[in-house]
Amino acid sequence: MADPVHDTLKHRFGFDAFRPGQEAVVRDALAGRDLLAIMPTGGGKSLCFQLPALLREGVTLVVSPLIALMQDQVRLLDGMGIAATFLNSTLDAGETARRQQALLDGKTTLLYVAPERLLLADFLGGFLATLAERVGLSALVVDEAHCVSEWGHDFRPEYRQLATVRERFGGLPCWAFTATATERVRRDIVAQLTLREAAVHVASFNRPNLYYAVRHKDRHSYRELLEQARSGGSGIVYCLSRKRVEELAVKLRDDGVDALPYHAGLDADMRREHQDRYIRDDVQVMVATIAFGMGINKPDVRWVVHFDLPRTIEGYYQEAGRAGRDGEAARCTLYFGAGDIRTAEFLIQQKVDPQTGEALEDEQRLARQQLRQVLDYAESSACRRSIQLRYFGETFTPPCGACDNCVEPRNRVDRTVAAQQLLSCIARLAQRNQRFGGSTVIDILRGADTEKIRRNGHTDLSTYGIGRDLSQDEWRAVLRTLLHEGLVDETQDGYPVLRLNADSRSVLRGERRVEVAETSPRPAAGRKGRRS
Ligand code: ADP
Ligand code: ZN
Repeated sequence: MADPVHDTLKHRFGFDAFRPGQEAVVRDALAGRDLLAIMPTGGGKSLCFQLPALLREGVTLVVSPLIALMQDQVRLLDGMGIAATFLNSTLDAGETARRQQALLDGKTTLLYVAPERLLLADFLGGFLATLAERVGLSALVVDEAHCVSEWGHDFRPEYRQLATVRERFGGLPCWAFTATATERVRRDIVAQLTLREAAVHVASFNRPNLYYAVRHKDRHSYRELLEQARSGGSGIVYCLSRKRVEELAVKLRDDGVDALPYHAGLDADMRREHQDRYIRDDVQVMVATIAFGMGINKPDVRWVVHFDLPRTIEGYYQEAGRAGRDGEAARCTLYFGAGDIRTAEFLIQQKVDPQTGEALEDEQRLARQQLRQVLDYAESSACRRSIQLRYFGETFTPPCGACDNCVEPRNRVDRTVAAQQLLSCIARLAQRNQRFGGSTVIDILRGADTEKIRRNGHTDLSTYGIGRDLSQDEWRAVLRTLLHEGLVDETQDGYPVLRLNADSRSVLRGERRVEVAETSPRPAAGRKGRRS
């Protein structure tokens, strides 16, 4: 006799095989265990609870933060002839009553519900208690489970109370799903949902069909974006501010690209309309802030461009990951220039207590640390995929064959002399008992005439202005290499400062050469990495 699991997979869902990681989750769910499954966007997590829901007794409750997401999933299940329904604030009383009756009659397998509704005392003690008694409950599925964590990017206080739902219904198994991979969020989910001996499944976050590239941001960047848009396929362009979103959408339209804006400043109706039109392929390009994308299931996004620097690596991974959910080749491009660093630093300085106007130091420190990771990513000459996966605690051995640094490795240039200049600048400052971060040291080397430089008397240093021949970007690349290779240390002194270490001396004494990947923008022929 055929295995009921594979049988259901084929005949109810129409899939021939499981995707990597799916089957193990399904087996644990069927065994009635608590579980936490961490899968990248597009990894196919819905199937991991929908399939067990069909094979277990009783109704499976699915908590999901977004109404659009619930409607979407119920519609898809309907299309497959699987009885699912949702209850939320968009339904009138009559429709709610009809749906509840169908559930009580045992006609529905999956019930999607918003956390606010689920937690209402009336609902919990009334309808749900009756349902549990008459039909039985099979499991509590918590979708987008990172919402329980303040460390996640989308904290929802109601999610914290979900544990009470399972307490109320005795041993109801809890299956938590998320695409957020950081260890801290993971631990928080297990604790907040009080998962018991949870089976934790972590699928690989590698998205082999995505091509990652970073491009230097300059006056040619808009042209490149235009080319990307004209080459076809649905795309998303992410910008930092509403204003930039609006401007860029208008500009693209003027240039004949079918683009619409999306940001939190538009009213809800307009946002919905733009989103619907995008999903229906009525419009090709969405220019958006990060408000756009969560829970939007458009499998055939062919490219995602970040026209401004993302705030965190994780954010970048998630936003770029909205491309290619169908598994077909897609392209993710990040534009980055020195101006982005200033903007990011400016935004970090805006993080102040609204009452007192004092800096929120912890938040600022965290934001600076995250910014540094993003800069490391953007400026690195290493495989982009391996950097992203390392961030998620995964090891990946490059080359990946689908990122700019693997496909078109950059030339390396000898920067030993520049490295010596930089290190001796740090040494000169140390002789005066001064310690500074990278940007000040680079300003000194380039002979910048700023108030800070004058105030600190740096114009008298012998290293002042000796490095005018290199651009700021080139100097940053030198410093980054020194940091990466452990040839200089960065320590905290209220803010990050540079210090020499034993290995710095070997560079200063000329015993060690320093090679740096060229920073000059690659020619626009960079398109060639696209998979056919
Ligand atoms: P996410 O993990 O982002 O929620 P989904 O559950 O929406 O991902 O699945 C992404 C896509 O993958 C959907 O189009 C889904 O139908 C498809 N999919 C899921 N599992 C399989 C499978 N075993 N074989 C083929 N396609 C699958
Ligand atoms: Zn690579």
